[in-house]
This record gives sequence, C-alpha cells and structure tokens, in this order.
Amino acid sequence: MVLALRSITMTTSNTAPPSSLEALDLKGHLTVHDISQCATDFGNLRHLPPSAVLHPAAVSDISAVIKHVFRLGPRSELTVAARGRGHSLHGQAQAPGGVVVRMESLRAPEMRVLAAGGLPCIDVSGGELWIDVLMESLKHGLAPKSWTDYLHLTVGGTLSNAGISGQAFRNGPQISNVREMEIVTGKGEVVNCSTEVHADLFYAVLGGLGQFGIITRARIDLEPAPKMVKWMRVLYSDFSSLAQDQELLVSAEKTFDYIEGFVIINKTGLLNHWRSSSSFKPKNPVQADSFDSDGKTLFCLEIAKYFNPEETDTMNKEVESLLCKLSYIPSTLFETEVSYLEFLDRVHVSELKLRSIGLWEVPHPWLNLLIPRTRICDFAAGVFGKIVSDSNDGPILLYPASKSKWDNRTSAVIPDEEVFYLVAFLSSAPASDAGSLELALRKNDRILEFCWKEGIQMKQYLPHYTRLDEWKAHFGAGWEKFEHRKRIYDPLAILAPGQRIFHKDMH
Ligand SMILES: Cc1cc2nc3c(=O)[nH]c(=O)nc-3n(C[C@H](O)[C@H](O)[C@H](O)COP(=O)(O)OP(=O)(O)OC[C@H]3O[C@@H](n4cnc5c(N)ncnc54)[C@H](O)[C@@H]3O)c2cc1C
Repeated sequence: MVLALRSITMTTSNTAPPSSLEALDLKGHLTVHDISQCATDFGNLRHLPPSAVLHPAAVSDISAVIKHVFRLGPRSELTVAARGRGHSLHGQAQAPGGVVVRMESLRAPEMRVLAAGGLPCIDVSGGELWIDVLMESLKHGLAPKSWTDYLHLTVGGTLSNAGISGQAFRNGPQISNVREMEIVTGKGEVVNCSTEVHADLFYAVLGGLGQFGIITRARIDLEPAPKMVKWMRVLYSDFSSLAQDQELLVSAEKTFDYIEGFVIINKTGLLNHWRSSSSFKPKNPVQADSFDSDGKTLFCLEIAKYFNPEETDTMNKEVESLLCKLSYIPSTLFETEVSYLEFLDRVHVSELKLRSIGLWEVPHPWLNLLIPRTRICDFAAGVFGKIVSDSNDGPILLYPASKSKWDNRTSAVIPDEEVFYLVAFLSSAPASDAGSLELALRKNDRILEFCWKEGIQMKQYLPHYTRLDEWKAHFGAGWEKFEHRKRIYDPLAILAPGQRIFHKDMH
C-alpha cells in the first residue's frame, strides 16, 4: 500500500495558461499543449502537471515570468521549474500547478568556442545538451574535461547536481570545470557570475538543485580532444582487490584517463554477451572462457586511456606498465579501441536499443549513493549478493572520486573523506515484469536502512527526500548556508519546487 502511493499522478483540465501570465509580453510563448510531457520524467514515478509551459526565445522571457510570479507574492501558488530534458528520477524538474520552462527552446547564446585568459572554453546555453557541446568543441579539436556517462543531458541539469563520471577523479565533477554563468534568480534578476563576480551566487547554483536560479548560460573549460580511446574491462572475483586497484589508480600521478567499475551479480552468460554485443575482445581468448559470471558476484574495473593514432606505441607501453601494478588475473582482461566520440557517447547506443524494444520509458527506481572509502568494504559485504541478489534489472556502477577535486564553496554534498565511492543502482522496472517496481523500491529502502543501521555516513547523489528533517540531515553542517542562500536568491521559494526542499507556503 505504502509502495503504491509512491507513484503519484495528478491530472489537470487546464486549456489555457493562467490568465495573469497571458498578459506578459514575451518573445517566446506560453502553452498548455505539452503539460503532460512536462509532468513526467526518466524516473517515471511522479507525474504532476504544471498549469503552463514556457518556451523561452530569450533570457528576458524567463526573467519576465519569474518577476511576474515574484510580484504575485507568497499567497500565489505559482512556482517555476527549469526543465532540461526531464532526466530526473522523482519529479525534480516538475512544477505542480506552476510554470515549467523548457530550456531547449532557449537557443541563445549560440555555442561559441573562445580562449579566455589564454585557455580554451565554450559559451553555451543552459538548455544545451552535452552531446552538442562535444560536437561543437570537436570542430576545434577540443572537448570539455569532465563528463557524465550519458551525454543527452543538459548543461543546466547536470550543473545543478554535479555531473560525475570516470574522469571526475582527476578533473573533478562538471561543476569544477565551469568558469562563469548567467543566472536568472528567484526574483527574476539576470546576473552574470563567476569565481570573482557575484561569487556566492556562482557557487550556490553549482550543485544547487535548481534552488537559487536558472542557468541560462555557462562557460565551460575545454582541453585538447584525443582522437582514440583504448577501453578495457578487467574482472575480479573479490571486492577488496577491485577497490584496492581502483584506489591505487586514482591516487597515481600517471594513470588512466577514465576509471569506473561495476558489479555483476548472478548474471548468466556475461562473457558471451560481451562477445556478441560489443567490440570488447579478451586479451587471452582461450583462458577467458574459463571465467564466467553464472551464479556468482563479480566485480569489473573499467579503465580507458586516450591517445592519438601516432602515439599508439607509447600509449600501449604506458597501459602495460599500469596494468602490471594491478592484482587482477590477466586472463580476465577485455579490450577494444574506439573513437573518442564513440567512447563518450557509449550510453546512447544502449538508449537506442532500449527505445526500440520499449524499455526506455519505463519506471527507473534508481538509487545513487556516495560512500566514504573507509566503509566501502562494509557496504559491499552487506549489500552485494545479500540485499542485492542479482544485477539483472540494471547496472550497478561503483567507482572512487577524490574530494580534493570538489570545491567546498559549491552547494554539492559529498561525504567527509578524501576518497569516496559513487555506487549507483540503476534499476529498470518494466510493467511486463510484474512487481519489479515494488521489489526495486523495497531493495533501495533496505540498502538505505543498512547504511543507517551500520552507521555508514553516506550521502545521496541526485538526492530524493520529502521531509525537511531529511534534507537538513543531508546537508548536515551546510544546511544553514543553503537555507541562507535560498533566502537571498529565491526568498519566495518559487524555483524548482519538485526537489521538495522548500515550500512556498513556508514564507
Ligand atoms: C541515462 C542517464 C544517465 C545518467 N548518467 C549520469 C552520470 O553519469 N553522471 C551524473 O552526474 N548524472 C547522470 N545522470 C543524471 C543526470 O545528471 C540528471 O538526470 C540531471 O537531472 C540532468 O538531467 P536533465 O538535464 O534532463 O535535467 P532535468 O532532469 O530536467 O532537471 C534536473 C534539475 O535541475 C533543474 N534544472 C534543469 N535545468 C536547469 C537550469 N538550466 N538551471 C537551473 N536548474 C535547472 C531542474 O529544475 C531539476 O530540479 C544520468 C541520467 C540518465 C537518465
């Protein structure tokens, strides 16, 4: 019963935007035609329609709508949420009864690569997709330094969270690679900010869960783009060896360019699957046949080294010397070489496959945790093969990140240890698999309960809480600052109500 209540749906009979909004003089337009699209997201667990959708043609449109809602004062129930592409999991980009701003409609500024302060960077609109930022940068032989695993997310959406992938251990998350931004605050003011100008707003917005302003432009750091990637997977039968090798690699000065990992539990025919569906080849085909995952829990290190074709020999020597330091069994090494674009856009291939069989737009009860290094072995021992008895409903990612690459002036919340692990349970729950949603949600609850009982001081990434005391505990010592910033930049709690941190009626 409790579980059934988690999937919340609300319908609306609106046929026109609220009349007070219709009087605004906008370059773009307000509509109700796509309110149902804006009442859903990738999580597919919460469906709360707005009363209008703004397709902004200029930053002034976003500013005008927010200023208008601000002028209506605390008694008006209208709120405003920016929507990147709605890849949120629990309605975070929804604005029940309010206005959703579809950021893809904001085509300004046009993407522009420039060299500011001698270093390359790119100016992009907040609604731009990372794949498009990459394509534009590649025209100049450049690319952003830090990524997410999936590139069809927006710049504003990932900067509101953190933006983590296998490059974060060396370059920091995406929020550590932004130089300046243009923000529309919760009062409708348009503010340019950077580490030097309006620095408090700059840091507040990064990892700020959309609470302090809408990112309309961001200036992202770039670096020379490699042409090719040597991409490797190595299997382990025990967790501590994987963790030891991952930690050795993330702390080494000369190391791989990308380090991730994943957990495989009770999955049949894994190696056959790799052989038939990917370009990965075992380095030692004969011995690799003796190692498969049927019925077991295996751990996989995923690493990549970037190179240009003329440097292939040097790259291979560097890879060999790094692999020599690891404790894996050589027969479990699988490798491939792909273009840099193919490597970065790898999840899109899975998306297309899943879409073609109707398995993309299903509920996604994902759980993303950041676990302190000192407790990761306890977590692994209590969860893998126990609370989680198979990984057939979606990948389980696991890799370390370094706190020193995160700026503690941002709003992002991470554990208080130099090394911490991202552990992501990326479950899918298709309707054809009866009861799978309830099972996945129950599993998530049990994982959280386990952390709580064992005193594991984890933090949720892409956090989902519904009560103020839970949010306060999430932010810990940072809560006061977060709340103070809210009072300054969005005093009426107009922005991103779907995060369910602040409520308009609190003021
Ligand atoms: C398949 C898949 C893979 C993913 N992989 C990764 C990964 O590897 N690493 C990682 O870090 N994350 C990953 N994510 C999570 C992703 O970062 C979040 O889904 C995030 O919400 C971005 O999605 P979006 O751009 O569609 O933003 P939305 O979901 O639309 O918005 C997210 C939040 O940000 C706010 N927001 C959106 N745009 C703006 C803006 N311009 N200004 C201010 N606030 C804004 C919204 O109101 C909402 O609160 C993945 C998600 C999916 C679906």
